[in-house]
Amino acid sequence: MMTVRFDAIIIGTGQAGPALAARLSETGMKVAVIERKYFGGTCVNTGCIPTKTLVASAYAAHLARRAAEYGVIAGPINVDMKRVKARKDEISGRSNKGVENWMRGLADATVYHGHARFESPRTVRVNGELLEADKIFINVGGRALVPPMPGLDQVPYLTNSSMMDVDFLPEHLIIVGGSYIGLEFGQMYRRFGSNVTIVEKGPRLIPREDEDISKAIHEILEKENIQIRVNAECITARKEGDRIIVGLDCVDASREVAGSHVLLAVGRVPNTDDLGLGKAGVETDKSGYIKVDDQLRTNVPGIWALGDCNGKGAFTHTSYNDYEIAAANLLDHDPRKVSDRIMTYALFIDPPLGRAGMTDHQVKASGRKALVASRPMTSVARAVEKGETQGFKKVVVDAESKLILGAAILGVTGDEVIHTLLDVMYAKAPYTIVSRAMHIHPTVSELLPTLLQGLKPLA
Ligand SMILES: Cc1cc2nc3c(=O)[nH]c(=O)nc-3n(C[C@H](O)[C@H](O)[C@H](O)COP(=O)(O)OP(=O)(O)OC[C@H]3O[C@@H](n4cnc5c(N)ncnc54)[C@H](O)[C@@H]3O)c2cc1C
Repeated sequence: MMTVRFDAIIIGTGQAGPALAARLSETGMKVAVIERKYFGGTCVNTGCIPTKTLVASAYAAHLARRAAEYGVIAGPINVDMKRVKARKDEISGRSNKGVENWMRGLADATVYHGHARFESPRTVRVNGELLEADKIFINVGGRALVPPMPGLDQVPYLTNSSMMDVDFLPEHLIIVGGSYIGLEFGQMYRRFGSNVTIVEKGPRLIPREDEDISKAIHEILEKENIQIRVNAECITARKEGDRIIVGLDCVDASREVAGSHVLLAVGRVPNTDDLGLGKAGVETDKSGYIKVDDQLRTNVPGIWALGDCNGKGAFTHTSYNDYEIAAANLLDHDPRKVSDRIMTYALFIDPPLGRAGMTDHQVKASGRKALVASRPMTSVARAVEKGETQGFKKVVVDAESKLILGAAILGVTGDEVIHTLLDVMYAKAPYTIVSRAMHIHPTVSELLPTLLQGLKPLA
C-alpha cells in the first residue's frame, strides 16, 4: 500500500489542533488533520459551549422566577426542555460546522474522518491509509472517567456526553462528583426543575479550592434546594424498580439516595489507550497522560502532545495555550513554555467563580509571608443594584515583593473581573498598580482598588 507523505500530521481537532493546522498550512506546509468523531472536540460538542449555553437557559429560568423581586410581573414559569436542547444544539452545532469548514478550507490540508493509530514514530494509519510525516501533533483530549463503583454496571448512567441528548426533565438527578462539571450540571438541572442530589466522596465540594470558597458554594447551592451529600467514601449503585439507588457508605447501608437518573462527573481520562502509542515509543504516565517537556515535546523527537492528553491542563484555554507554545517554538523562534502560564479557571455556576494563581493553602505551603484582603459581594454597589449579592472576593499578595499570588472572585461577573488581576500578575507588576487605579463606577471591578487597600496578614 502507498504511504501518503505530509509535512505534519495532527491527530484530533480539540482546542489546539485546528489552530495549529491553520498556522502550519499558512507557512506552506502540507498538513493532514485527523478527527474520529466530532470536529471541535469536547469543548465544542460536549463541554464548554453546550454547557454554558444550558447554563444561560437555566439562568433565564431562575431570573424569570425572581422577576417579581424586580417589580416585573411574569406568568407561571415553564421550562421546555426540547427547546432548551434545540438552542444548545444550534449553538454547539454552529461551532462544530465552523471548525470542520475551517479545516476543509485550509490550503494544502487533507482532512481525514477516522480513528488514527500510530504504526511507527513517523507513520499513522487512518481508514486503512498510511500517512507519514516528520512532525506529528497529538491533540486527542479525554473522556469521562467511569470509575469501578460497585453495581455501576447494573444501572443506566449518564456522562457529560450522553447528557447532551437529554431533552426531558429528570425527576431526580443524582450527580456523582462535586467538582466543576458536577456543580454546573447540578445547579442547571435544579433550575430547569429537577430534584438534584450531588454526591461527593471528599469532605467538601470543589476540593481543589480553599475551604471558604467550598463553604460559600455549598451554601449557594443549598439555598436552591440542591441536596449535597459529602463524605461518600464508598459509592455504590443498584436498581430498585424504576429507581436508581446510590449508596454512600459500604458499611452503613442506610446512607443512600434514590433518584431517577445518575450522572457521573468524577473526572476525565485521556484518549491515549487506543492510539498505538507503544508502536511509536511515546511514553505515558500511570494514568495514561502523555509525558511532555516544558515545550510540549514527547520523549520521541518529532512528536508533540497538546491539550488535555498531556495532563498539564484540563481546560480549553490551557489547550489553546499549548497550541501557542508549540507554534511559537516551531515557527516564531520564541521559546514560550508551559511553566510561563498562571493557573486560572472559572466555575460557571451562578454566581460564577473566577480563580487566578495560588490558593491560600498553596501560598501557606510555599512558606511565603503573605497578605490577604477579602470582602463580601454585599459591599459591591453594582451587585446590590443587580440583586445578585452572593459570594465574596479575595486577593492574596506577597508581603515583600507586593506581587499578587492568587485571587478568587465568587460573585456576579467574577469570571470576567478576575482578568483585571490576572493581567497584572502576567505583567509581574505589584498590587499597588490595581490599588491606585481608578475604575468605572458602578462595576464589580470597582471594588478591587478599595479591597487591596485593606490587606492584612494571611493567617
Ligand atoms: C462538561 C464539560 C464542561 C467543560 N467546560 C469547560 C469550560 O467552561 N471552560 C474550559 O476551559 N474548559 C471546559 N471543559 C474542558 C474542555 O472541554 C477541554 O479542556 C478542552 O476541550 C480541551 O480539549 P483538548 O484540546 O485536549 O481535546 P478535545 O477537545 O477533547 O478534543 C480531542 C479530539 O480528538 C479526537 N480524537 C481522540 N482520539 C482520536 C484518534 N485516535 N484519532 C482521531 N481523533 C481522535 C476526539 O474525537 C476529539 O474530537 C469542559 C469539559 C467538560 C467535559
